[in-house]
Amino acid sequence: MLKDIVSMLPQELEEELKRLGEPSFRAKQIFQWLSRGARDFDEMSNISKALRDKLKGEFYMHRPKVLSKQVSALDGTIKYLWELRDGNAVETVVMSYKHGNTVCISSQVGCRQGCAFCASTIGGLVRCLEPSEMLDEVLYSQLDSGKPISNIVLMGIGEPLDNFDNVMRFLELVNHPQGMNIGMRHISLSTCGLTERFDDLARKDMQLTLSVSLHAPDDETRSKIMPANRGRGVEQLMDSCKRYYEKTGRRISFEYAMIDGVNDSEYHAKLLAKRAKDVHAHVNLIPLNYVEEYKLKPSSPGHMKAFIKVLEDEGVNVTVRRRLGSDVDASCGQLRRKMQKK
Ligand code: SAH
Repeated sequence: MLKDIVSMLPQELEEELKRLGEPSFRAKQIFQWLSRGARDFDEMSNISKALRDKLKGEFYMHRPKVLSKQVSALDGTIKYLWELRDGNAVETVVMSYKHGNTVCISSQVGCRQGCAFCASTIGGLVRCLEPSEMLDEVLYSQLDSGKPISNIVLMGIGEPLDNFDNVMRFLELVNHPQGMNIGMRHISLSTCGLTERFDDLARKDMQLTLSVSLHAPDDETRSKIMPANRGRGVEQLMDSCKRYYEKTGRRISFEYAMIDGVNDSEYHAKLLAKRAKDVHAHVNLIPLNYVEEYKLKPSSPGHMKAFIKVLEDEGVNVTVRRRLGSDVDASCGQLRRKMQKK
Protein backbone atom coordinates (compact mmCIF):
# COMPACT_ATOMS: atom_id res chain seq x y z
CA MET A 1 0.00 0.00 0.00
CA LEU A 2 1.27 3.47 -0.86
CA LYS A 3 1.99 5.77 2.07
CA ASP A 4 0.75 9.35 2.50
CA ILE A 5 3.97 11.32 2.05
CA VAL A 6 2.48 14.75 2.82
CA SER A 7 1.61 13.55 6.35
CA MET A 8 5.26 12.72 7.08
CA LEU A 9 7.61 14.81 9.20
CA PRO A 10 11.17 15.39 7.87
CA GLN A 11 12.69 12.93 10.35
CA GLU A 12 10.25 10.24 9.18
CA LEU A 13 11.03 10.99 5.56
CA GLU A 14 14.68 10.57 6.41
CA GLU A 15 13.98 7.10 7.82
CA GLU A 16 12.00 6.18 4.72
CA LEU A 17 14.79 7.35 2.43
CA LYS A 18 17.38 5.50 4.44
CA ARG A 19 15.29 2.39 3.95
CA LEU A 20 15.38 3.06 0.20
CA GLY A 21 19.15 3.47 0.35
CA GLU A 22 19.10 7.23 -0.28
CA PRO A 23 21.06 9.95 1.52
CA SER A 24 19.21 11.89 4.20
CA PHE A 25 19.52 15.32 2.54
CA ARG A 26 16.98 14.09 -0.01
CA ALA A 27 14.38 14.12 2.78
CA LYS A 28 14.90 17.82 3.29
CA GLN A 29 14.59 18.52 -0.44
CA ILE A 30 11.41 16.49 -0.70
CA PHE A 31 9.88 18.10 2.39
CA GLN A 32 10.59 21.51 0.88
CA TRP A 33 8.89 20.59 -2.39
CA LEU A 34 5.88 19.28 -0.49
CA SER A 35 5.74 22.41 1.66
CA ARG A 36 5.74 24.57 -1.45
CA GLY A 37 2.72 22.67 -2.74
CA ALA A 38 4.16 20.27 -5.33
CA ARG A 39 1.33 18.24 -6.84
CA ASP A 40 3.47 15.58 -8.47
CA PHE A 41 6.83 13.93 -7.84
CA ASP A 42 7.87 15.00 -11.35
CA GLU A 43 7.86 18.64 -10.23
CA MET A 44 10.83 17.85 -7.96
CA SER A 45 13.45 19.00 -10.44
CA ASN A 46 16.47 18.47 -8.19
CA ILE A 47 15.54 14.81 -7.66
CA SER A 48 16.65 12.29 -10.27
CA LYS A 49 14.09 10.60 -12.50
CA ALA A 50 15.12 7.24 -11.03
CA LEU A 51 14.43 8.35 -7.49
CA ARG A 52 11.18 10.05 -8.46
CA ASP A 53 10.01 6.76 -9.95
CA LYS A 54 11.09 4.93 -6.82
CA LEU A 55 9.11 7.40 -4.70
CA LYS A 56 6.01 6.89 -6.84
CA GLY A 57 6.18 3.19 -6.03
CA GLU A 58 6.21 3.90 -2.29
CA PHE A 59 4.19 7.04 -1.63
CA TYR A 60 1.19 8.96 -2.82
CA MET A 61 0.33 12.61 -2.68
CA HIS A 62 -3.11 13.82 -3.44
CA ARG A 63 -3.43 17.56 -3.21
CA PRO A 64 -6.94 19.07 -2.98
CA LYS A 65 -8.80 20.66 -5.89
CA VAL A 66 -10.92 23.80 -5.61
CA LEU A 67 -14.55 22.77 -6.06
CA SER A 68 -15.80 26.25 -5.37
CA LYS A 69 -14.42 29.57 -4.21
CA GLN A 70 -16.67 32.34 -2.95
CA VAL A 71 -15.39 35.80 -2.11
CA SER A 72 -17.43 38.00 0.21
CA ALA A 73 -18.38 41.35 -1.32
CA LEU A 74 -18.68 42.75 2.21
CA ASP A 75 -15.25 42.03 3.67
CA GLY A 76 -13.21 39.92 1.22
CA THR A 77 -13.55 36.73 3.26
CA ILE A 78 -12.94 33.72 1.03
CA LYS A 79 -14.69 30.41 1.40
CA TYR A 80 -13.14 27.41 -0.32
CA LEU A 81 -14.74 24.06 -0.90
CA TRP A 82 -12.03 21.44 -1.52
CA GLU A 83 -12.40 18.10 -3.17
CA LEU A 84 -10.51 15.36 -1.33
CA ARG A 85 -8.95 12.12 -2.56
CA ASP A 86 -12.12 10.06 -2.04
CA GLY A 87 -14.56 12.59 -3.46
CA ASN A 88 -15.53 14.00 -0.07
CA ALA A 89 -15.39 17.75 0.35
CA VAL A 90 -14.56 20.15 3.18
CA GLU A 91 -14.65 23.90 3.63
CA THR A 92 -11.92 26.34 4.61
CA VAL A 93 -12.38 30.05 5.25
CA VAL A 94 -9.74 32.77 4.85
CA MET A 95 -10.34 35.98 6.81
CA SER A 96 -8.27 39.14 6.63
CA TYR A 97 -7.63 41.18 9.72
CA LYS A 98 -5.34 44.15 10.36
CA HIS A 99 -2.80 41.83 12.01
CA GLY A 100 -2.77 39.34 9.13
CA ASN A 101 -4.70 36.56 7.47
CA THR A 102 -6.39 33.82 9.45
CA VAL A 103 -7.47 30.52 8.01
CA CYS A 104 -10.31 28.57 9.60
CA ILE A 105 -9.91 24.88 8.81
CA SER A 106 -12.01 21.74 9.10
CA SER A 107 -10.71 18.72 11.01
CA GLN A 108 -13.28 16.12 9.97
CA VAL A 109 -15.71 15.46 7.14
CA GLY A 110 -18.93 16.08 9.07
CA CYS A 111 -19.19 15.87 12.84
CA ARG A 112 -20.77 13.55 15.38
CA GLN A 113 -21.15 15.96 18.30
CA GLY A 114 -24.74 16.94 17.52
CA CYS A 115 -24.77 20.55 18.79
CA ALA A 116 -28.29 21.89 18.38
CA PHE A 117 -27.25 25.11 16.64
CA CYS A 118 -24.47 23.93 14.30
CA ALA A 119 -24.85 23.09 10.61
CA SER A 120 -21.71 20.97 10.45
CA THR A 121 -23.21 18.14 12.44
CA ILE A 122 -26.31 17.63 10.29
CA GLY A 123 -25.66 14.31 8.58
CA GLY A 124 -23.18 13.13 11.20
CA LEU A 125 -19.54 12.16 10.84
CA VAL A 126 -18.26 10.76 7.57
CA ARG A 127 -14.56 10.44 8.43
CA CYS A 128 -11.59 12.12 10.06
CA LEU A 129 -9.20 14.22 7.99
CA GLU A 130 -5.62 13.07 7.52
CA PRO A 131 -2.79 15.37 8.70
CA SER A 132 -1.93 16.02 5.03
CA GLU A 133 -5.49 17.12 4.29
CA MET A 134 -5.48 19.66 7.12
CA LEU A 135 -2.05 20.91 6.10
CA ASP A 136 -3.28 21.32 2.54
CA GLU A 137 -6.26 23.40 3.69
CA VAL A 138 -3.73 25.92 5.02
CA LEU A 139 -1.16 25.61 2.25
CA TYR A 140 -3.53 25.71 -0.71
CA SER A 141 -5.60 28.52 0.81
CA GLN A 142 -2.39 30.51 0.90
CA LEU A 143 -1.26 29.48 -2.60
CA ASP A 144 -4.63 30.05 -4.23
CA SER A 145 -5.53 33.31 -2.50
CA GLY A 146 -2.03 34.79 -2.59
CA LYS A 147 -2.61 35.86 1.03
CA PRO A 148 0.18 34.79 3.38
CA ILE A 149 -1.44 32.92 6.26
CA SER A 150 -0.24 33.95 9.71
CA ASN A 151 -2.94 32.46 11.94
CA ILE A 152 -4.89 29.22 12.05
CA VAL A 153 -8.11 28.43 13.87
CA LEU A 154 -9.40 24.87 14.06
CA MET A 155 -12.99 26.08 14.05
CA GLY A 156 -14.35 24.72 10.80
CA ILE A 157 -16.18 21.45 10.33
CA GLY A 158 -15.51 18.71 12.87
CA GLU A 159 -14.30 18.22 16.42
CA PRO A 160 -10.48 18.37 16.55
CA LEU A 161 -10.21 16.37 19.77
CA ASP A 162 -12.24 13.59 18.13
CA ASN A 163 -9.36 13.33 15.62
CA PHE A 164 -6.60 13.80 18.18
CA ASP A 165 -3.57 12.04 16.70
CA ASN A 166 -4.05 13.41 13.19
CA VAL A 167 -4.57 16.93 14.52
CA MET A 168 -1.40 16.70 16.66
CA ARG A 169 0.60 15.57 13.66
CA PHE A 170 -0.91 18.33 11.50
CA LEU A 171 0.19 20.86 14.14
CA GLU A 172 3.74 19.52 14.07
CA LEU A 173 3.77 19.70 10.28
CA VAL A 174 2.42 23.22 9.94
CA ASN A 175 4.67 24.44 12.76
CA HIS A 176 7.82 22.88 11.32
CA PRO A 177 10.63 25.39 10.59
CA GLN A 178 11.34 23.76 7.22
CA GLY A 179 7.62 23.82 6.40
CA MET A 180 5.04 26.58 6.76
CA ASN A 181 6.58 27.49 10.11
CA ILE A 182 3.40 28.92 11.65
CA GLY A 183 3.94 29.56 15.35
CA MET A 184 1.87 27.70 17.91
CA ARG A 185 0.90 30.99 19.50
CA HIS A 186 -0.84 31.83 16.24
CA ILE A 187 -2.97 28.69 16.36
CA SER A 188 -6.29 28.16 18.17
CA LEU A 189 -7.93 24.81 18.69
CA SER A 190 -11.65 24.84 19.45
CA THR A 191 -13.44 21.99 21.19
CA CYS A 192 -16.97 21.23 22.35
CA GLY A 193 -15.34 19.94 25.53
CA LEU A 194 -14.08 16.36 25.13
CA THR A 195 -12.55 16.54 28.60
CA GLU A 196 -10.90 13.12 28.42
CA ARG A 197 -8.43 14.67 25.95
CA PHE A 198 -7.51 17.85 27.81
CA ASP A 199 -4.70 16.29 29.84
CA ASP A 200 -3.26 14.66 26.71
CA LEU A 201 -3.26 18.04 25.01
CA ALA A 202 -1.69 19.77 28.01
CA ARG A 203 1.06 17.14 28.09
CA LYS A 204 2.02 18.07 24.52
CA ASP A 205 2.95 21.42 26.03
CA MET A 206 2.24 23.37 22.88
CA GLN A 207 1.72 27.07 23.10
CA LEU A 208 -1.53 27.08 21.17
CA THR A 209 -4.74 28.69 22.41
CA LEU A 210 -7.45 26.33 23.58
CA SER A 211 -10.97 27.58 22.90
CA VAL A 212 -13.79 25.84 24.68
CA SER A 213 -17.24 26.08 23.12
CA LEU A 214 -19.08 26.55 26.38
CA HIS A 215 -22.36 28.14 25.23
CA ALA A 216 -23.99 27.54 28.62
CA PRO A 217 -22.59 27.61 32.17
CA ASP A 218 -25.06 25.10 33.70
CA ASP A 219 -25.75 21.44 32.95
CA GLU A 220 -29.46 21.85 32.33
CA THR A 221 -28.98 24.33 29.49
CA ARG A 222 -25.73 22.92 28.16
CA SER A 223 -26.91 19.32 27.94
CA LYS A 224 -29.96 20.49 26.05
CA ILE A 225 -27.99 22.19 23.29
CA MET A 226 -24.73 20.19 23.41
CA PRO A 227 -25.01 16.40 23.66
CA ALA A 228 -21.25 16.29 24.42
CA ASN A 229 -22.12 17.69 27.85
CA ARG A 230 -24.21 14.67 28.78
CA GLY A 231 -22.13 12.23 30.79
CA ARG A 232 -19.36 14.80 31.25
CA GLY A 233 -20.92 17.88 32.76
CA VAL A 234 -19.86 21.46 33.31
CA GLU A 235 -18.07 20.79 36.62
CA GLN A 236 -15.84 18.20 34.99
CA LEU A 237 -15.23 20.57 32.07
CA MET A 238 -14.21 23.33 34.47
CA ASP A 239 -11.85 20.97 36.34
CA SER A 240 -10.25 20.01 33.04
CA CYS A 241 -9.91 23.66 32.01
CA LYS A 242 -8.30 24.53 35.32
CA ARG A 243 -5.78 21.73 35.04
CA TYR A 244 -5.02 22.74 31.46
CA TYR A 245 -4.37 26.32 32.52
CA GLU A 246 -2.23 25.28 35.48
CA LYS A 247 -0.14 22.91 33.38
CA THR A 248 0.37 25.15 30.33
CA GLY A 249 0.00 28.67 31.72
CA ARG A 250 -2.13 29.45 28.66
CA ARG A 251 -5.43 31.22 29.19
CA ILE A 252 -8.44 29.41 27.80
CA SER A 253 -11.05 31.19 25.77
CA PHE A 254 -14.76 30.38 26.26
CA GLU A 255 -16.82 30.61 23.09
CA TYR A 256 -20.40 31.57 23.81
CA ALA A 257 -23.03 31.84 21.06
CA MET A 258 -25.91 33.97 22.30
CA ILE A 259 -29.20 32.19 21.63
CA ASP A 260 -32.46 34.03 22.22
CA GLY A 261 -34.29 32.73 25.28
CA VAL A 262 -31.95 29.77 25.70
CA ASN A 263 -28.66 30.88 27.29
CA ASP A 264 -28.89 34.67 27.49
CA SER A 265 -30.58 35.40 30.85
CA GLU A 266 -29.05 37.25 33.79
CA TYR A 267 -28.75 33.90 35.59
CA HIS A 268 -26.63 32.57 32.73
CA ALA A 269 -24.49 35.72 32.64
CA LYS A 270 -23.74 35.57 36.37
CA LEU A 271 -22.88 31.90 36.35
CA LEU A 272 -20.78 32.34 33.21
CA ALA A 273 -18.86 35.14 34.95
CA LYS A 274 -18.14 32.85 37.88
CA ARG A 275 -17.00 30.02 35.62
CA ALA A 276 -14.71 32.32 33.64
CA LYS A 277 -13.13 33.79 36.77
CA ASP A 278 -12.64 30.35 38.33
CA VAL A 279 -10.45 29.21 35.45
CA HIS A 280 -9.03 32.59 34.33
CA ALA A 281 -10.79 32.32 30.98
CA HIS A 282 -11.49 35.00 28.45
CA VAL A 283 -15.06 35.10 27.08
CA ASN A 284 -15.74 35.45 23.37
CA LEU A 285 -19.40 36.13 22.64
CA ILE A 286 -20.74 35.19 19.23
CA PRO A 287 -24.11 36.41 18.01
CA LEU A 288 -25.75 33.11 16.98
CA ASN A 289 -25.67 32.63 13.23
CA TYR A 290 -28.94 31.63 11.74
CA VAL A 291 -29.01 28.06 10.43
CA GLU A 292 -31.91 27.28 8.14
CA GLU A 293 -32.68 23.87 9.64
CA TYR A 294 -33.01 25.10 13.23
CA LYS A 295 -35.57 27.26 14.97
CA LEU A 296 -33.02 29.02 17.17
CA LYS A 297 -32.62 32.78 16.94
CA PRO A 298 -29.79 35.10 17.97
CA SER A 299 -30.24 37.19 21.11
CA SER A 300 -31.38 40.75 20.51
CA PRO A 301 -28.72 43.49 20.60
CA GLY A 302 -30.32 44.83 23.80
CA HIS A 303 -30.11 41.47 25.49
CA MET A 304 -26.53 41.08 24.41
CA LYS A 305 -25.61 44.47 25.79
CA ALA A 306 -27.11 43.63 29.18
CA PHE A 307 -25.33 40.29 29.17
CA ILE A 308 -21.99 41.92 28.41
CA LYS A 309 -22.54 44.45 31.19
CA VAL A 310 -23.02 41.69 33.78
CA LEU A 311 -19.77 40.06 32.66
CA GLU A 312 -17.84 43.32 32.65
CA ASP A 313 -19.20 44.34 36.06
CA GLU A 314 -17.87 41.04 37.35
CA GLY A 315 -14.46 41.89 35.93
CA VAL A 316 -14.49 39.29 33.15
CA ASN A 317 -12.43 39.87 30.03
CA VAL A 318 -15.03 39.78 27.22
CA THR A 319 -14.98 40.36 23.46
CA VAL A 320 -17.64 40.07 20.78
CA ARG A 321 -16.80 38.14 17.64
CA ARG A 322 -17.06 40.13 14.43
CA ARG A 323 -19.13 38.52 11.71
CA LEU A 324 -17.12 37.96 8.56
CA GLY A 325 -18.18 36.40 5.30
CA SER A 326 -21.87 36.32 6.17
CA ASP A 327 -22.87 36.78 2.51
CA VAL A 328 -21.00 33.59 1.56
CA ASP A 329 -22.29 31.49 4.50
CA ALA A 330 -18.81 31.44 5.96
CA SER A 331 -19.81 32.38 9.50
CA CYS A 332 -19.42 29.95 12.39
CA GLY A 333 -21.78 27.04 12.24
CA GLN A 334 -22.91 27.60 8.66
CA LEU A 335 -20.42 25.42 6.88
CA ARG A 336 -21.18 22.34 4.84
CA ARG A 337 -24.94 22.03 4.69
CA LYS A 338 -25.49 23.85 1.39
CA MET A 339 -23.01 21.72 -0.45
CA GLN A 340 -24.66 18.48 0.77
CA LYS A 341 -28.01 19.67 -0.44
CA LYS A 342 -26.72 20.29 -3.94
N1 SAH B 1 -16.08 21.21 17.19
C1 SAH B 1 -15.36 22.36 17.62
C2 SAH B 1 -14.93 23.32 16.53
C3 SAH B 1 -15.90 23.65 15.41
S1 SAH B 1 -17.18 24.84 15.62
C4 SAH B 1 -16.12 23.09 18.69
O1 SAH B 1 -17.24 22.69 19.00
O2 SAH B 1 -15.59 24.03 19.27
C5 SAH B 1 -16.50 26.44 15.82
C6 SAH B 1 -17.36 27.31 16.74
O3 SAH B 1 -18.58 27.75 16.10
C7 SAH B 1 -17.78 26.58 17.99
O4 SAH B 1 -17.63 27.43 19.09
C8 SAH B 1 -19.25 26.31 17.71
O5 SAH B 1 -19.95 26.04 18.89
C9 SAH B 1 -19.65 27.58 17.01
N2 SAH B 1 -20.92 27.51 16.30
C10 SAH B 1 -21.50 26.45 15.71
N3 SAH B 1 -22.67 26.80 15.17
C11 SAH B 1 -22.86 28.11 15.41
C12 SAH B 1 -23.89 29.04 15.08
N4 SAH B 1 -24.97 28.69 14.39
N5 SAH B 1 -23.71 30.32 15.47
C13 SAH B 1 -22.61 30.69 16.16
N6 SAH B 1 -21.61 29.86 16.49
C14 SAH B 1 -21.73 28.57 16.12
